[in-house]
Amino acid sequence: MKLVADAIKGTQDALPKESYKWQYIEKVVKSVAQEFDFKEIRTPVFEKTELFQRGVGDTTDVVQKEMYTFEDKGKRSITLRPEGTAGAIRSILEHGLFNDALPIKAYYITSCYRYEKPQAGRLREFHQFGVECVGAKSPVADAEVIMLGKSVLERLGIKNISLEINSIGCPECRAKYTEALKEYFSKYKNDLCETCLSRLERNPMRILDCKSHICSKIAQDAPVILDYLCDECKEHFEKVKNYLTSANVEFTVNPKIVRGLDYYTKTVFEFITTEIGAQGAVCAGGRYDGLAEELGGPSLPSLGFAMGLERALLLMEKQGCPFPQDSVADIYIAPMGEMAQATAIKLCKTVREEGFSAVTDYSGRGLKAQMKYANKIGAKFSMVIGDNEIESGKATLKNMLSGEEIEVEIGNNFANSLYKVCKDSILSEIENTALF
Ligand code: ATP
Ligand code: MG
Repeated sequence: MKLVADAIKGTQDALPKESYKWQYIEKVVKSVAQEFDFKEIRTPVFEKTELFQRGVGDTTDVVQKEMYTFEDKGKRSITLRPEGTAGAIRSILEHGLFNDALPIKAYYITSCYRYEKPQAGRLREFHQFGVECVGAKSPVADAEVIMLGKSVLERLGIKNISLEINSIGCPECRAKYTEALKEYFSKYKNDLCETCLSRLERNPMRILDCKSHICSKIAQDAPVILDYLCDECKEHFEKVKNYLTSANVEFTVNPKIVRGLDYYTKTVFEFITTEIGAQGAVCAGGRYDGLAEELGGPSLPSLGFAMGLERALLLMEKQGCPFPQDSVADIYIAPMGEMAQATAIKLCKTVREEGFSAVTDYSGRGLKAQMKYANKIGAKFSMVIGDNEIESGKATLKNMLSGEEIEVEIGNNFANSLYKVCKDSILSEIENTALF
């Protein structure tokens, strides 16, 4: 088959047979967000390019290499969002939400776009569940946000995930640390990869995150940020650890976590797996106390995280996490002939009004082909409507699994009859397989 255009590299379709898995994940993340009283925020898929340049940071890989940026017909530079935080904070500032009760607790489930080398768990269009807690400076907020992420992973049934945390300090303590890093890495100028060489001046902390074998080896003995934290940052980090410990949340401190986006301050964290190859970070986040000001708003200490939903799904499939079954049609109504077709549509309408799902034939197929279809879609009951049924006002409802047959009235009394005769069996089957 030669299509006019196939899908763009690095994008994925959620097909009708698979989309229930996405619906399930979305349902779970929404319900956990609700338990923590986070409300949904929806922002546009594109924003002015400056938002990400300023918000995410000019020196980051995301802004330098990965953004989908284009000029629109009005000659404005537009970018498809590479992440959700900048847009969410822009929106919160623009609508003055900080004048209401603080903190503002928002979550999103959204598509993101990054020009990356596609591979398992790394796409050009991917989806994130993210939360932002804006206007909360206490370390309690850090612990709560981390616990929210953990709850989502647990609720999805994902196992063997480790939580790694670090503090990357505030601009003051980081300035000293950056100097120390520059001094350290300068000694290895001849060995660092090209990217890291350019990071040396602009953002030496990112060298710690380099995936190249040589750079990560060099980074092993680099100075550690935790030795450079100012008193306030140190105290904040200690409290976060204490709160997590008292809530029985296991974690390890990994001083190498620096995160890819420039806006982070103090606490940063990642939920990591080794089970889906190199793309081990399923959920990552941290504090970004300076971002609101950076974007032109007031000072609003904030934090959040983003969870890669494709990675979560990959992991769930790999680990055999249970997904509730997709919904299937309750009743397939098979018409025999033109007159029956009109009756079938009417009966379908009634079935749906009674709160069940109904399917009928759209292709003028014979009975055998129709029953084959009903079987294929997994319909729970079937009912044949022909001249005899119309004449007698009665039809047979067949349980497709057990073969049991029940007579129902199909005249004006159809709804009542349907409800009375098969309420128990249909309802119990529906409850067994209900998705929501
Ligand atoms: P990575 O280490 O994979 O490059 P990152 O540091 O760029 O991740 P963030 O910007 O913090 O990631 O995004 C948060 C989460 O979004 C990641 O932990 C990951 O689960 C997911 N994610 C990021 N980039 C992609 C991508 N290209 N494809 C699929 N998921 C992604
Ligand atoms: Mg990345």
